[in-house]
Amino acid sequence: MIHENGKVVDIAIIGAGPGGMACAIEAKLAGIENIVVIDKAPHHNDMIHKFYKKGKRVDKDWMGIKFEFTGNVTFEECSKEEYIQQMDDKLRAAGVLDTFEYNHEIMRVEKGEDGLFSIVYGQENVSESIETIKAKNIILSVGRMGKPNKPKYPFPKEIKDRLNFNLSKVQDGERVMIVGGGDTAGEYAYGLVELEDMQDCVVTLNYRQAEIKRMNPTNTQMCTKYLDNGKILNKMGVDIESVEPSPAGKIKVNFTDGSTAEYDRAVYALGGTTPKDLLVNSGVKTGEWDVPVFNPETMETNIEGLYTIGDVVTDQGSIALAFNHASFAVSNIASKLK
Ligand SMILES: Cc1cc2nc3c(=O)[nH]c(=O)nc-3n(C[C@H](O)[C@H](O)[C@H](O)COP(=O)(O)OP(=O)(O)OC[C@H]3O[C@@H](n4cnc5c(N)ncnc54)[C@H](O)[C@@H]3O)c2cc1C
Repeated sequence: MIHENGKVVDIAIIGAGPGGMACAIEAKLAGIENIVVIDKAPHHNDMIHKFYKKGKRVDKDWMGIKFEFTGNVTFEECSKEEYIQQMDDKLRAAGVLDTFEYNHEIMRVEKGEDGLFSIVYGQENVSESIETIKAKNIILSVGRMGKPNKPKYPFPKEIKDRLNFNLSKVQDGERVMIVGGGDTAGEYAYGLVELEDMQDCVVTLNYRQAEIKRMNPTNTQMCTKYLDNGKILNKMGVDIESVEPSPAGKIKVNFTDGSTAEYDRAVYALGGTTPKDLLVNSGVKTGEWDVPVFNPETMETNIEGLYTIGDVVTDQGSIALAFNHASFAVSNIASKLK
């Protein structure tokens, strides 16, 4: 899409995950067509592309929390791949796909004296036409998964390729250790056991606590079943001290109880972090746990015209919640633009 130099949009939406893409559709339905959606990834719903395992069912009532859709954007429960197709169809039907700009990472937004926001990019090669867009309103829907949490010990460079944050590099037949005690770790572990084309993988679950406490009931039940029948090997109740290359070029893991083990791959599922820098650098006030301070009815922050929605404002986010937030924010903007 070509933006005219110096163009002023009604809304610039940062992030094209569930929250951001729902904002684009809500805006169109509210009669606001002059928008741009910017994402650092090469497509919408990147977090789902990257972090959901192949074929995963996309639940409406995620983590056991019931949701009613309060806006215009909804989804039918289906597989990851079908969900992405559904969203593509909805964006196409709404006629908003040409407002999406991919591969641009935003560092911050700045409100000028004229009341318009400028958008500051993190890379050199941004075309001038995008760089000079200004916005009357901004919606930040940047999620929490931008930077996966890393363990404190270093990753030696010889085995960096084998130390991953999702399942995308796992190959059949590998000995894989999943590290973490939350839902993502659980889904990775039993997901690998169940995947038809990964039947020869040997899966170990490592978590510093001896018991599963942080997973939802379904994931707890699935992991417990496979831990009990030995399909998931149990290395729980012990932390990892360090990792180093084994003589065979694999990963030698040194546990805090003095034991060691060798794996082809380790997949860390230690949670994500709030992209605090983007928010703080844009002047958004944050409270406890770095959660942005916002009005829950409108999603507006302490800066007038700057909204934030979705995972970044909650520790129990979901697709339905992000959709609902999108409708709150866009209705508020629409009422002000009239
Ligand atoms: C493994 C897993 C399974 C899940 N399963 C379910 C489920 O079954 N059902 C359900 O409802 N929920 C599920 N969730 C949660 C759900 O995916 C999230 O709540 C939802 O994606 C939040 O949407 P969002 O738009 O707030 O953020 P995200 O989906 O994280 O989207 C944020 C977007 O912002 C972009 N971005 C970030 N920083 C920048 C920047 N600086 N510049 C430009 N772009 C940026 C990212 O590239 C990304 O596209 C699951 C989560 C995980 C990790």
